[in-house]
Amino acid sequence: MTVDAAKNLVPAELLHDLRNPLNQIIGYSEMLAEDSDERDHMAGDLQKIQSASRLILAILDANFTAGAAVANRQRAASRSYAPVQPMAEPAIEPGRILVVDDEPGNRDVLCRRLRRQGHAVEAVGSGREALIRLAGGAFDVMLLDIMMPGMDGYEVLRRVNESEELRNVPVIVISALSEMQSAVRCIEAGAEDYLTKPFDATLLKARVGASLQKKRARDREAALFEQLRKNFKRLEELEKLRDDMRNMIVHDLRTPLTSLMMGMEMLGSGGGLTETQREVLMLALGGGRTLLGMINDLLDVEKMESGMATLHYAEVMAAPLVASAFEQIAALARDAGTKLVSEIAPELPAFAADEKKITRTLVNLIGNAVKFTGAGTVTVLAARGDDENVRFIIRDTGQGIAPEAFETIFDKFSQLDPHSKIGTGLGLAFCKLAVEAHGGRISVASTLGVGSSFTFELPVAAQV
Ligand code: ADP
Repeated sequence: MTVDAAKNLVPAELLHDLRNPLNQIIGYSEMLAEDSDERDHMAGDLQKIQSASRLILAILDANFTAGAAVANRQRAASRSYAPVQPMAEPAIEPGRILVVDDEPGNRDVLCRRLRRQGHAVEAVGSGREALIRLAGGAFDVMLLDIMMPGMDGYEVLRRVNESEELRNVPVIVISALSEMQSAVRCIEAGAEDYLTKPFDATLLKARVGASLQKKRARDREAALFEQLRKNFKRLEELEKLRDDMRNMIVHDLRTPLTSLMMGMEMLGSGGGLTETQREVLMLALGGGRTLLGMINDLLDVEKMESGMATLHYAEVMAAPLVASAFEQIAALARDAGTKLVSEIAPELPAFAADEKKITRTLVNLIGNAVKFTGAGTVTVLAARGDDENVRFIIRDTGQGIAPEAFETIFDKFSQLDPHSKIGTGLGLAFCKLAVEAHGGRISVASTLGVGSSFTFELPVAAQV
């Protein structure tokens, strides 16, 4: 009978069954050899047993499996077999290891080997038991046999990878040298490493050690991430507390401040005050109005941010909106020496918008332009924009804005000059929220020392 014919006659299961006891003979005799005194006559005999067993294994692999080339190499290796010399290796902190193999002898050899290396080891005989044990205990590494009856190693690996809790346990798959293809498949499916039978003590130690180190690095990373997550959550809670307290204070301030203002206004209109008293009263009223304005800004911005604000749509025209905004800014512009110009495209149609919110958007943008321009010109243009939108441009010839501020300028409390005593840093945040609530968009362009232009577009076809 030819060797090729013999290959067909020896089924894979039989080869598997033959290899198992051979691997055990090699494993046990290796351990015994390590324990025996070198001068002991037993040491030499044990080496002979190992060499003979390896040779039988190599012959089996060379003649009855597809992995003949690999096995030939193994045969060559087995002929020049020498006992493993202990090497100086970096000390590895022992870990908790789960061994999964359906063959009791293989399990025993592996467990004893690993315990000798200082690890805490548990062993199970099937894929199903492995999943149960793995879920119940904090293991650092799993050594998993691929060929098992019932649930095989591939299926265990697939389920481990699917599970959020189990995924971080490194898996080292165990395969026969002639089953390398299976080991490769397992690595592709997420296994950390592989080991071939018969186990080489040094290789086993190195691979388990490397996987343990990876697991520990992953655990440290996970702990750090968890700490970060907790800190972030705490920060969010603190921010919410701060916002709630601020809202409460701001709400509570508005009512007494409104009564105070009303009282002062009545005092002013009643007559009977000296000139100095009237001046003081006007100053107090001015301060009160600023404070009320700031409180209202804050409440409005927060209401829009939380989506609680409703838009009151009505049909509006650009020209009266701009005229109304100019009216409100007129005194400020006069004091600053700013010239206000408007250019409204005559064919611009009426469109639907919340009149109050869009007027306030224009007032905020024109007000800023005046504040940061002084003696110069502020021009408001209104024309057809992209996609039939109505486009407003507020252009000034003022100090300009540095490009790095473009991204944050519309954020709440964003003031480019941190020492600025004018404004609250809420004006542009209001504009953005109001424009976006209409389904529009707003942007800024500017050149330092030349001027800025703020552009916003509103859809014409919004619902009324
Ligand atoms: P504030 O109420 O403080 O003006 P805004 O949100 O309206 O807050 O503006 C934020 C910041 O953006 C201002 O403090 C200013 O530094 C800058 N800014 C806004 N508009 C202009 C402009 N037209 N020219 C120069 N800087 C501007």
